[in-house]
Amino acid sequence: MKKIAVFPGSFDPFTIGHESIVRRALPLFDEIIIAIGYNSTKSGFFPLEKRERWIKQVFEGDNKITVTKYEGLTVDFCKKNNSNYILRGLRTSSDFEFERGIGQMNKKLFPEIETIFYLTKPENTPISSSIVRDIFKHGGDVSQFIPKGMNLNE
Ligand code: ADP
Repeated sequence: MKKIAVFPGSFDPFTIGHESIVRRALPLFDEIIIAIGYNSTKSGFFPLEKRERWIKQVFEGDNKITVTKYEGLTVDFCKKNNSNYILRGLRTSSDFEFERGIGQMNKKLFPEIETIFYLTKPENTPISSSIVRDIFKHGGDVSQFIPKGMNLNE
């Protein structure tokens, strides 16, 4: 059976922290689905279509990676896509507390699911989409925090 992992997130925007998690997880799986979670009543900062296009550009040519968006429960998305693995990143102890709750509840909802955590590379620990967004909103240069070639003005 193919080993498929789902990497869910808002990716508003995708950062080098997210990219690093995907690249480190690649040797472990046959396929990784980067799944942009959205809520039709609450839009993010960057339009969903742009977020999706940027991530597709980053992994262009890598046939083990697909990028898509989804609404609803992550475990339902995993079931639909024959995935038993959720990837998440851990930067700090507060990430851990947050992720523990979600991961344990997901396990209750879908016992076959395993959440795989990657410890952030030290240099990526302070990088978050919300700080990158704030820098961008105020006209700062975010290029060192987002994947090479990604342009938030496009
Ligand atoms: P969510 O809204 O679901 O938290 P995010 O897009 O903020 O979505 O994050 C998706 C995943 O990526 C989460 O597991 C988060 O902890 C992880 N992540 C975010 N930033 C980094 C980073 N700099 N290094 C490693 N993992 C990260």
